[in-house]
Amino acid sequence: MILEADIKAQLNQYLQLLENDVLLKISAGSDKLSNDMLALMDELSTMSSKIKVENTTLQRTPSFSVNRPGEDTGIAFAGLPFGHEFTSFVLALLQVGGRAPKVDQSIIDRVKAIKGEYHFETYVSLSCHNCPDVVQALNAMSVLNPGISHTMIDGAAFKEEVESKDILAVPTVFLNGEPFGSGRMTLEDILAKMGNGPDASELADKEPYDVLVVGGGPAGASAAIYAARKGIRTGIVAERFGGQILDTLGIENFIGTKYTEGPKLAASLEEHVKEYDVDIMSSQRAARLEKKDLIEVELENGAVLKSKTVILSTGARWRNVNVPGEAEFKNKGVAYCPHCDGPLFAGKDVAVIGGGNSGVEAAIDLAGIVKHVTVIEFSSELKADSVLQERLNSLPNATVIKNAQTKEITGTDKVNGLTYIDRETGEEHHIELQGVFVQIGLVPNTEWLADTLERTRMGEIVVDNRGATTIPGVFAAGDCTNSPYKQIIISMGSGANAALGAFDYLIRN
Ligand SMILES: Cc1cc2nc3c(=O)[nH]c(=O)nc-3n(C[C@H](O)[C@H](O)[C@H](O)COP(=O)(O)OP(=O)(O)OC[C@H]3O[C@@H](n4cnc5c(N)ncnc54)[C@H](O)[C@@H]3O)c2cc1C
Repeated sequence: MILEADIKAQLNQYLQLLENDVLLKISAGSDKLSNDMLALMDELSTMSSKIKVENTTLQRTPSFSVNRPGEDTGIAFAGLPFGHEFTSFVLALLQVGGRAPKVDQSIIDRVKAIKGEYHFETYVSLSCHNCPDVVQALNAMSVLNPGISHTMIDGAAFKEEVESKDILAVPTVFLNGEPFGSGRMTLEDILAKMGNGPDASELADKEPYDVLVVGGGPAGASAAIYAARKGIRTGIVAERFGGQILDTLGIENFIGTKYTEGPKLAASLEEHVKEYDVDIMSSQRAARLEKKDLIEVELENGAVLKSKTVILSTGARWRNVNVPGEAEFKNKGVAYCPHCDGPLFAGKDVAVIGGGNSGVEAAIDLAGIVKHVTVIEFSSELKADSVLQERLNSLPNATVIKNAQTKEITGTDKVNGLTYIDRETGEEHHIELQGVFVQIGLVPNTEWLADTLERTRMGEIVVDNRGATTIPGVFAAGDCTNSPYKQIIISMGSGANAALGAFDYLIRN
């Protein structure tokens, strides 16, 4: 039996939802993975009479495609879709079996209207929590449009292919054989990248809002819910709904929930916001803010949204080390997400730049996968909590170099080393390695506001105890503000506070 009993029980329930037959075409050899894939197919066909299996030859072996009888959908899985991809597999079965993808009608219409042939390939690792979003979005597009096809490729099962394409970050997507993008992408992001996003005129025709929230992380979601519950016209514009929690695995300090995972929390934030009458505009970046009679927020696509009040909750992003090689080798050995990209460095030598909590946590995680991990710390001591330092020091394949200033990340077509200066002696050293994880903290996403309002030296928006900024009617919340602590629960609290502040302002003005 390839499926564990509890997974099988869950899957049994989902398979009851199949409305039509599903034909799985399998391309298998005699290797262990092929045998496991055949066993999975056998097991599935005994679980539902609607699932049929036949042998075929596909571009990759082992792989299988998920089809309607008599019509190939173009959805294929190369390698076993276990781990985080199991849900992608179940959704593919259900959608091919007649259940409509859970996507807004306007997006469905845009996908169906795409003309031409588009073959996507997504390289994943089964432990990557950002990969399923991309796989599921592209599978849904394949279900909706016969010109679109998609193959998920497990990098661990197709190592040679991954190495020949120099893939060092997942998810990495190719379109018709050419690099298309990497990192988490929603269906809307993919459409926008293909030139099928909502055009500026669609957004520009919007009536003014009472409250317009900019940013869709914990702070923005909370602000939008609090505002909408007052019955006022609320909009939320966000580049990436969910924010940083999409890059977070385990969360153990979200009070009232003993344990959850970032993408799961992000999905429930979106679901909660959708319970209310909130106009959600995803995959859109704000580029400029100006106070006229109303407050105007101009988006990067040129559309201008107007509102009586605005709540800025644009959060923060990974800080770069800004040394030669960092930008050139991004996704070619320079990485920021150890959970996502760590498995691609199995058996290799890597460095983590930064010895704070996130750096040391990353090094501990990576030590379980890679051959050796070196932590590069700028100051004379690590800043991480002592319990983490003790754990790190107990690992046989981890080294810490203190007083080290990274000078350059070296490489040719991908990373081959790191040069640092010993700050005590001034000597330059070079370490040979294949991967560098940058973990030196965060920087607020506020550059686009320039000097329209007061920001600290670090770029954080200065707010008062109601979340008000120095522009009347403009409020701010979460990690983009000068709040001393940056946490999910604190961001949510400050989002609620700013929404109540904005509501008070509307009553008085
Ligand atoms: C790896 C990691 C692990 C963490 N673990 C924990 C933990 O265990 N517990 C905990 O409490 N906290 C944790 N945190 C911190 C927590 O995730 C943040 O404090 C929280 O997400 C901040 O929420 P926010 O809404 O202020 O900002 P963010 O989550 O950063 O959200 C910002 C939002 O604004 C959008 N945006 C940015 N710029 C623009 C623009 N110009 N136009 C439109 N939209 C824009 C973004 O796309 C996003 O939707 C972790 C953070 C990281 C990176």
